Amino acid sequence: MSLKKTSPNDAIKKIKKSGTGLRTDYLVVGAGLAGCTISERIASQLGKKVLLVEKRGHLGGNAFDYENEHGILVQKYGPHIFHTNSERVWNYLSRFTGWNGYVHRVLAMVNGKLVHLPLNLETMERLYDRSFTALEMEAFLEQRREKIAKPENARDVVVSAAGTELYELFFRNYSKKQWGLYPEELGAEVTSRLPLRFDRDTRYFTDRFQGLPDAGYTRMFERMLETGNIEILLNTDYRKILNETAYEKLIFTGPIDYFFDHMYGKLPYRSLDFEFKTLDVERFQESAVVNFPNEHEYTRITEFKHFYFQENRKTTICYEYPRADGDPFYPFPNPACREIYQKYRKEAEKLKNVFFLGRLAEYMYLNMDQVVEKALNLACLLAEEPDISGSHRTPGFFKDNISVMEK
Ligand code: FAD
Ligand code: UDP
Repeated sequence: MSLKKTSPNDAIKKIKKSGTGLRTDYLVVGAGLAGCTISERIASQLGKKVLLVEKRGHLGGNAFDYENEHGILVQKYGPHIFHTNSERVWNYLSRFTGWNGYVHRVLAMVNGKLVHLPLNLETMERLYDRSFTALEMEAFLEQRREKIAKPENARDVVVSAAGTELYELFFRNYSKKQWGLYPEELGAEVTSRLPLRFDRDTRYFTDRFQGLPDAGYTRMFERMLETGNIEILLNTDYRKILNETAYEKLIFTGPIDYFFDHMYGKLPYRSLDFEFKTLDVERFQESAVVNFPNEHEYTRITEFKHFYFQENRKTTICYEYPRADGDPFYPFPNPACREIYQKYRKEAEKLKNVFFLGRLAEYMYLNMDQVVEKALNLACLLAEEPDISGSHRTPGFFKDNISVMEK
């Protein structure tokens, strides 16, 4: 079955011709992981019509990938590695793709040495030029830890576990580059993402399931949307067609502050510039990603051919430069921003038949598997209560119900 992609001009022509505008059961805004998952579920499980509207010229949101002119599969918005402990999420996506078995490893350039992240015995040995057992590492860190009863920010998390020296070598300056703020101004959840290991496991993620879609993310998204009943409108801000579109329910996966016309002010998002280079060498660096906590303006370099074990005379790499302005990539993980977000959330709760889903709409630092899980939960809600008018609930806001629904 082929994908039904409509150009904005075709849609406008269609609107003018029919006089009545576009008609659909569900209007889904944003064709990222959230938008594609919920569209697929609505079309295949509820048997309803979906109009999926995407501002960019492609599917997949930030997980979009494509083969460049040198035959290397690159990820346009930075390295995306799928990892999850959820069998439900893994099985769901596995209907649309196989997985390539890639296991992610990250190196960091620290004190002139390339060492493994997250911090583990190998990292310690290379950094301090001596051997460590797990007990020795524990004793070493114990002497250096700051005693903080309840870590309250991203600095507390690291210094209370590993001390200030390792904090300064790996986290302080990287976080300042990444967020424009030092870790003391960021929520504890930011650095809690990285574990401290007392073994020799050098994998970045230890989830049960991990890898990359075997034919790329974009192919996986295309297959998700091949179920029929889904019309796709690319290069279109949803506002362009909103007035001409009749729909029963709206699922919004774009930035929540934009939806409400920034009525409580703009929510800050951290952005990135990606600088791609193709070099005439077979291999540029030892691992797919190398972080630079202390030098350079960029945070990390990705060399894409590692992801798909590609052999090629050339190699494509990408430098990531964090920015305050640009595409919204990261919701800001600090309490002041969450407070603004709460005001938008209250507005969202007043709306009937509008659902906010995903990283931008829920203003949350979510990994891909968490987004899929939320979309699957929303699909359950929509399926179980086909007429939910008057009881607006959004997936991020009914956490308490999730366990009930999963039973
Ligand atoms: P998005 O992917 O942002 O999709 C939202 C879509 O909505 C976009 O396509 C946007 O163009 C569209 N949109 C916005 N406004 C409008 C509008 N007005 N009209 C129409 N369309 C609109 N997660 C992992 O699990 N593993 C990783 O390794 C990983 N690496 C990451 C690396 C980077 C650099 C970044 C930024 C994120 C990374 N993530 C990773 C997180 C991952 O990108 C997100 O979890 C996931 O993409 C979120 O999907 P989404 O659909 O919620 O949002
Ligand atoms: N971080 C750091 N140094 C590193 C890697 C990560 O300081 O070398 C911090 C940084 O604040 C980052 C957070 O830890 O935002 C989480 O790292 P992760 O790799 O999970 O970030 P992602 O790129 O997935 O957002």
